[in-house]
Amino acid sequence: MEKINRRTFNIKLTQGLAGAALLSNMPLSYGLNSGKQDKKLGIALVGLGGYAGGQIAPALLNAQHCYLAGIVTGTPSKEKEWMDKYNIPRENVYNYENFDSIAKNDAIDVVYVVLPNSMHAEFCIRAARAGKHVITEKPMATSVAECDAIINACKENGVKLGVGYRMQTDPYTQEIKRYGKEKPLGNVKYVRSDSGFIAGSWITPWRLQKKYAGGGALMDMGVYAIQCCIYGAGANPVSISAQEFKTKPDYFIDVDETITAQMKFSNDVIGNVFTSYNANGNNLFVSYERGWVELNPAHSYGPLSGRTSRGEEIKFPFQRQYQQTLQLDAYAQHVLTGSPNYAPGEMGKRDLIIVEAIYKSIAEGGKTIPLDLGDMGIVRV
Ligand code: NAD
Repeated sequence: MEKINRRTFNIKLTQGLAGAALLSNMPLSYGLNSGKQDKKLGIALVGLGGYAGGQIAPALLNAQHCYLAGIVTGTPSKEKEWMDKYNIPRENVYNYENFDSIAKNDAIDVVYVVLPNSMHAEFCIRAARAGKHVITEKPMATSVAECDAIINACKENGVKLGVGYRMQTDPYTQEIKRYGKEKPLGNVKYVRSDSGFIAGSWITPWRLQKKYAGGGALMDMGVYAIQCCIYGAGANPVSISAQEFKTKPDYFIDVDETITAQMKFSNDVIGNVFTSYNANGNNLFVSYERGWVELNPAHSYGPLSGRTSRGEEIKFPFQRQYQQTLQLDAYAQHVLTGSPNYAPGEMGKRDLIIVEAIYKSIAEGGKTIPLDLGDMGIVRV
């Protein structure tokens, strides 16, 4: 077995990432020079809540291939605040009623929907009909049917579609994918991911209402655990069974609190997902024939942290970049140059198929639900 010390491990990481970047014309600089691109795409954010204000707008200040050009908000008091803070001209400010007139605004290339989950479909479809490229936050929508409607609207209007899965362009995720591809520890046998937090009074109320959120912890955090297991396994699940636990039924009246799900993957990997609004979890464990790799934390904003059964820490020898900046630059490059889309609509739809199968299994007392996904939504970059 090849011995990798910490120095060579880091060199290999750098080579792996740089190689991947060259092979796929990948925009992810990871501290490397990613080349010239004159045009910057103008992005309009729809919904100026916690995530848009706390993460996406600041990330856009550092992006190379896109910038914050406009806003769409239902709260008039936010207009001036955002215009002043981000130097946004009045003509690029919209509300939910006049949003469709964004079609006439050439300064806006992309609409990024950061609204409560149940509003993603309506605004993605309106953006596509206005001729704008679309990014929708996760979960892509609240049902597979809504995902189909978004995908169709984007196809019919000839615009590109991405999901806000920031982990797909994170270097730690890329490294887990490399382990799956290059097999330094052999084939994957088992994957496990926990994703949850303890919801308190600070949680935005729509997250506890099914009509806005579509579900509870599973819709919010569970998609991360599902994604982790899929990129850990390097394949899609072929069957799934699930159980729900409610320890605070008076608080989680309308949505799920805690769910566990077991999956078998097309390559015979076994997987376990845990998600909760009443327990913390933020990890990915991948067991291979000759060892293991663990990320903990695995899907927060970073920096992430990882280690292997060989006693090495997974570290990246360059300045850390904002996850959302990497995500947005990768999407912008996809639109501008046709480079890979790291999180296409099919990936978001696949995850909703899995979510719906989990709810179905729970409703049927933990019955195993078969899945026929093929390679849907698997992006091998
Ligand atoms: P939030 O509650 O902080 O913001 C929601 C925004 O939608 C607010 O500006 C609010 O005014 C607006 N809104 C419009 N109509 C509304 C209505 N009827 N009810 C409630 N709000 C309404 O939520 P958030 O945390 O910013 O989440 C927004 C989306 O982003 C969700 O889909 C969420 O899953 C996603 N998100 C993704 C990440 C990630 O890491 N990718 C992180 C957080 C949130």
